[in-house]
Amino acid sequence: MNLENVVCGVCSGGKYETVYESAPGWLDADFTPSTDRYGQFGSVVRCRGCGHYYTNPRPAAEFLNSGYQSARDDAYIAESESRSINAYMSLSAIRRFAPPSGRLLEAGCFAGFFLNAARTQYEVEGLELCSWAADFAEKNLRLPVRRASMESAGLEAGRYDVIAMIDVLEHLQNPAAAIAECSRALKPGGILYLVTPDIKGFSARLLGKYWWGLRPSHIHYFHRASLSRLLAAHGFEVRLAKSFGKIFTCGYWLSRIKNYPPLIHRAAEKFIDAAGIHNKFLYIDTRDSLEVIAVKRN
Ligand SMILES: [Zn+2]
Repeated sequence: MNLENVVCGVCSGGKYETVYESAPGWLDADFTPSTDRYGQFGSVVRCRGCGHYYTNPRPAAEFLNSGYQSARDDAYIAESESRSINAYMSLSAIRRFAPPSGRLLEAGCFAGFFLNAARTQYEVEGLELCSWAADFAEKNLRLPVRRASMESAGLEAGRYDVIAMIDVLEHLQNPAAAIAECSRALKPGGILYLVTPDIKGFSARLLGKYWWGLRPSHIHYFHRASLSRLLAAHGFEVRLAKSFGKIFTCGYWLSRIKNYPPLIHRAAEKFIDAAGIHNKFLYIDTRDSLEVIAVKRN
């Protein structure tokens, strides 16, 4: 496989120090959102210029693109109810800052659960590289989805009132280009909604190189300061930046820690089985995901 050295995705600086290192696991990497395979992320470095964290070196663009295009994730669909609740929580946060109607775009909409919630308020459009997920959104949820990335979509300038990228930025080869494109495609005063792992969040600091956020498909690791810097550079003003919790069934939460020490996993499994709550919803804020709302300056 071809690996390439890259510069910082926020400030384009080339000086860095290595923070975490693990065996690279890209050849059999799992590019699905609900992967439970953490670790094997290669080298994560910190930019000496701006403090942003990113994977360096990383696989070439063709390898990453084909990984996303050919992904399939049945476990994602199996959690459709909890993912829909998470979508409504995001929509409710957006509604506090955005106009009550208008055009909304989601880049990286995957199976379409957020767009399905958002269309109760907005005229929605989606972009998605994964064919399987885009097919699901079109056929099962009747959503308009184009097979394109934010950077390649050729969007009309000033078209949207809201753009959302939920758990997407950390996967992009050029997050700065995507944010620049968001700025171009939004109306002045338009709202950008982002959710991305926070490498300086509590759980990330606690778990260090064992943090579940470190995985082969993540090639950028933001924190409040690096994300704010990127947004400011493209004409955005941050209005909200907070920790983002999620709802899943207890069984799904349990599957997230399958590869952690057996003692922890077994204890949690015993408790969930004894309580009979495998299918019950549970909200947890693991304090390592960042929810950001930014407005495009006029
Ligand atoms: Zn930098």
